Amino acid sequence: MESRWSDDDAKQVVEAYAQEGVSADLALRTYTARLLGTDPKLVLHGGGNTSVKTRMMDVYGDEIPVLCVKGSGWDLATIEPQGHPAVRLEPLHRLRRLASLSDEAMVNALRSNLLDSSAPNPSVETLLHAFLPHKFVDHTHSVAAIALADQPNAETVCRRAFGGRVTCVPYVMPGFQLAKLAAEVFDADPDVKGLVLLKHGIFSFGSTARESYERMIALVSAAERFIADNQRTPMRPAKLPAAPAPPAKVLPVLRGAFGRVAGSRYQKRWIFDARTGDRAMAFAAGADLASYATRGPATPDHVIRIKAKPLIVPTPPAGDLETWAKATDAALAAYAADYENYFERQNARVGGVKRALDSLPRVVIAPGLGLFGVGKSSDEARIAADLAEAAVESILDAEAVGRYQPVGEDDVFDIEYWSLEQAKLGKSTEKRLERQIVAVTGGGGGIGAEIAKAFAAEGAEVALLDIDETAVEAAAAHTGRHALAIGCDVTDPASVERSFERITAHFGGLDILVSNAGAAWTGMMADMPDAVLRRSFELNFFAHQNVARAAVAIMQQQELGGALLFNVSKQALNPGADFGAYGTSKAALLALVRQYALEHGSDGIRANAVNADRIRSGLLTDEMITLRARSRGLSATAYMRCNLLGQEVTAADVAQAFVMLALLPKTTGAVLTVDGGNVAAMVR
Ligand code: ZN
Repeated sequence: MESRWSDDDAKQVVEAYAQEGVSADLALRTYTARLLGTDPKLVLHGGGNTSVKTRMMDVYGDEIPVLCVKGSGWDLATIEPQGHPAVRLEPLHRLRRLASLSDEAMVNALRSNLLDSSAPNPSVETLLHAFLPHKFVDHTHSVAAIALADQPNAETVCRRAFGGRVTCVPYVMPGFQLAKLAAEVFDADPDVKGLVLLKHGIFSFGSTARESYERMIALVSAAERFIADNQRTPMRPAKLPAAPAPPAKVLPVLRGAFGRVAGSRYQKRWIFDARTGDRAMAFAAGADLASYATRGPATPDHVIRIKAKPLIVPTPPAGDLETWAKATDAALAAYAADYENYFERQNARVGGVKRALDSLPRVVIAPGLGLFGVGKSSDEARIAADLAEAAVESILDAEAVGRYQPVGEDDVFDIEYWSLEQAKLGKSTEKRLERQIVAVTGGGGGIGAEIAKAFAAEGAEVALLDIDETAVEAAAAHTGRHALAIGCDVTDPASVERSFERITAHFGGLDILVSNAGAAWTGMMADMPDAVLRRSFELNFFAHQNVARAAVAIMQQQELGGALLFNVSKQALNPGADFGAYGTSKAALLALVRQYALEHGSDGIRANAVNADRIRSGLLTDEMITLRARSRGLSATAYMRCNLLGQEVTAADVAQAFVMLALLPKTTGAVLTVDGGNVAAMVR
């Protein structure tokens, strides 16, 4: 591992922050914290913490010694100076003399010594930083260091890997007792450059930001060299069937298994993130997978996001997945029962005061296929998969040089159910369409882009499909979440199939289809060339059938129900002159909506339509509006407001109608009109 320190960058950061009144100490602290935070081999997603001891002015105008330490909720990759709130240092030093200090009293002592009372809670490892004498202190969960720290004879291994540069601190849960113990271990050996926290991670320290950072890099590099030079036990691969089914086919079935085991106890829908890189595949293909994968978390704070153990499922065969689904149901039920037993056993040990979290896994491993992160959003699923991949690195390395032996069950439980750790996850209430995956066709157009935005705002995971790849990528970038943009010709069944496989491979399944793509061809029916009429039916009827059929196939595998929503124009109900090619195909589409409602109600799949009219879009351009308004002797504004409510109807109004239909659990076969009121187009 190379140092990424740059004198030029450091100077620039100091100068830039100086303009905001930030001291050089805090600017350099921010700079190297980010160097650590942006390397996934060192820290991931809020893991690790950093500090600097400096001086600051208090409200009385006195310059006092403070510890600026990472605040909870900040991520080292993107931390800003205010992410290291200042705590008065002397009162922290005095805490070391206490024999014990409860977590609540520790948090209170930290908070009441903040210089800024509105700052976030200082890290749970603040006292460890405070009790070490060095100006800069860095802490990471380096995958290589953890591979050595998670060994039965970790102290011997660390002595061989690091020489006298570090000393080891036995495992204790983070907080006051760990801070005291680490300080005692350090005091006994004050020339060391760092501390290895057994079964947890590594600290480095120094008198400058650069020294502390480069000591971290040097120590981690020594761990990496040791691992490279001491590969004693080659991985024994398991015998796996050739060519399993791909994630795109497997994930909807797996998603269904999660829904079935959740029953009525938990939310049934989950989002998945598949990883099929070389290391994940090697890990999943090991003959001893069931042993090394289930011994416990590589570092304790992983447990709050990915639990102590992954779920291992059989390799899915390339053909029919029905037998595999049954085996997966059984494996998932056994996992949940095992988790519930663990909770009961451990809760009894701590006096029965804890409330059980849900018993579903956050990581699934399928030999031959890879590993999957699981979460209630794509962000959570991605974080779970990232942490699982980091653990894979540590575990493979630990097994190669010796034996992977992480913290035991009691310690796992204490961390998993520690209020200070659970606080890291925050308490957000779920949005109305969170956990739901939606595909929007015509996503590159004005109405499609608004629909995508409206669903994203309700918490849904969004895939936008459009034949215009540039337009759909631009629209995806503006949805406000990590939307998936897919170039798709909805009139081509093969293109539709490929696109829906991309959606299931990316998110794990599909819950809502908004079939919105369309176009209008004009002309009197008597003069209409057959070719034009057929083109209109291809896009305005058959393309809807293509996407609906593909969506239903996924929904039936999941057994979670679903919603099919179609953009049916006013033309289907109230024909306009010259719009026959459009109107007849849309009228056929309305019949299609009702047919799906009839045939798939028993699957819990609802089919509904939106009847919108006079919306500015690719179908009704400003130029067309001017022409039509003129032919009626109206201004463009008056023409657009020509309805019962006297208000223009926008793409955003149409988008809200689709959201509403997605939310109404008992409505199917319905047409929702969004036209400001037009008696001739009313459904009767
Ligand atoms: Zn830590």
